[in-house]
Amino acid sequence: MSDSYDVVVIGAGPAGYPAAIRAGQNKLKVACVDEWRNTDGSYAFGGTCLNAGCIPSKALLESSELYQRAKEEFAAHGITFGDLKVDLAAMQGRRAGVVKTMTSGINALFKANNVAGIQGHGQLEPGNKVRVKAPDGSERTLDAKHVVLASGSIPIRLKTVPHDGKYIVDSWNALEFDEVPRRLGVIGAGVIGLELGSVWRRLGAEVTVLEALPQFLPMVDQTIAKEAQRQYKKQGLDIKLGARVSSAAAAGKAVTVAYSDEKGEHSVEFDKLIVAVGRRPFTAGLLAEGSGVTLDERGFIEVDEQCRTKAPNVWAVGDVVRGPMLAHKGKEEGLMVADLIAGHYGAVNYDVVPSVIYTAPEIAWVGRTEEQVKQSGRAYKVGTFPFAASGRARAMEAGVGMTKIVSAKDDDEVLGVHIIGPMAGELISEAVLAMEYSASTEDIQRTMHAHPTLAEALHEAALAVDKKAIDGLNR
Ligand SMILES: Cc1cc2nc3c(=O)[nH]c(=O)nc-3n(C[C@H](O)[C@H](O)[C@H](O)COP(=O)(O)OP(=O)(O)OC[C@H]3O[C@@H](n4cnc5c(N)ncnc54)[C@H](O)[C@@H]3O)c2cc1C
Repeated sequence: MSDSYDVVVIGAGPAGYPAAIRAGQNKLKVACVDEWRNTDGSYAFGGTCLNAGCIPSKALLESSELYQRAKEEFAAHGITFGDLKVDLAAMQGRRAGVVKTMTSGINALFKANNVAGIQGHGQLEPGNKVRVKAPDGSERTLDAKHVVLASGSIPIRLKTVPHDGKYIVDSWNALEFDEVPRRLGVIGAGVIGLELGSVWRRLGAEVTVLEALPQFLPMVDQTIAKEAQRQYKKQGLDIKLGARVSSAAAAGKAVTVAYSDEKGEHSVEFDKLIVAVGRRPFTAGLLAEGSGVTLDERGFIEVDEQCRTKAPNVWAVGDVVRGPMLAHKGKEEGLMVADLIAGHYGAVNYDVVPSVIYTAPEIAWVGRTEEQVKQSGRAYKVGTFPFAASGRARAMEAGVGMTKIVSAKDDDEVLGVHIIGPMAGELISEAVLAMEYSASTEDIQRTMHAHPTLAEALHEAALAVDKKAIDGLNR
């Protein structure tokens, strides 16, 4: 095979591999280079998301939620049983199996779309050349008309909390625990900290989450955040806000953490400590001298609205560029870039990026929070609908949480939708579609929703915006 390509993508995570597949669909000659290695030493496509992020975390969230529900909810359905146990090795085996199926699927997709998948480290050299170092140490250079950089992100580590991978761990290590820690500390009450804290809490750990910010989930609509805080507390997650960790040290089989809050200095002991304080763009060894690609002060590759870097015909997508670090945001950027390269239309609507926290209840939102709309000065109206009034949620024994819609007072445009409740991550898609098409609340009101479904909660919230809810009280 010749080493000249129309497109070379560096990184096969959820931003890079879709870019490569779409380039193949666009009849471009494309290669995708990736260096990911799993803890067993095996190479795999799929990046953080498939190997150590979205997919394994959701596999464990599902298993642990089933256990929790069996323990606490099945009796209400009239289902009882004798001896409920967790077989963690089997649970972790399933998690690994799900990951393996998904990552192997990328090999098949590459083949079907004529993408040359190459395992190894890629480095962009001047003149759109990509130097590839293979796992056996051999090197070769690929010539590319266009290069797409999709090198992703890695967890932020704290200098005063030295990572050892065993007691003081990151999110990846925390997905692969082989026993349930008795006392688990989590630094950071963000999405990843809350999801991992929930998994291990449900499986029996005492979980304490230390969050430096005084406000809980500041990026989430505060009606929803308050309800989430209440629900997590009921589940036994001990979330300490305004808790600034100053140091942590592992000794023997325990980790001692020092933190301060408004009450003073504290010291607390855990069996494991997860550091989940965010992620940073990863560009180590990616750019050779003179590549022409520039980084901003936080280490993100600088790009324009359409993901062009400062170097001609070099693009960058996903976690390594500005914007929310989410798999679906990276995917849309990857598709846009592959279409633009082929001379087609391509765009990403950054105003309607959905976010989901996969705890139970789930939290999902799109658009602006009520606080943000208030701050913008635009007159607005709000409708809410509680899942307690949803027949389907009740039938599922999941009548917790609510749906909330914020709309403009002048033209009725939907400005933001916020959900906490069962399957919120699935329900938000309707809101995303509505907002993509600049729907008004009335558009949702006049859209028929199947009965009995959870989606009716969105319909009722839309009706509630104009005080026309049928199944709930109009306040
Ligand atoms: C625990 C956890 C849970 C998450 N859950 C969700 C979720 O539910 N939903 C969601 O949307 N997001 C979630 N995320 C975030 C999501 O994983 C990222 O947003 C997403 O993976 C970013 O995709 P990417 O393609 O930009 O980068 P990555 O997935 O990080 O992939 C980058 C790839 O590039 C490779 N690479 C880097 N440099 C080179 C090089 N020089 N040569 C060759 N290869 C290179 C890396 O090895 C990697 O395989 C989660 C993250 C974590 C950690």
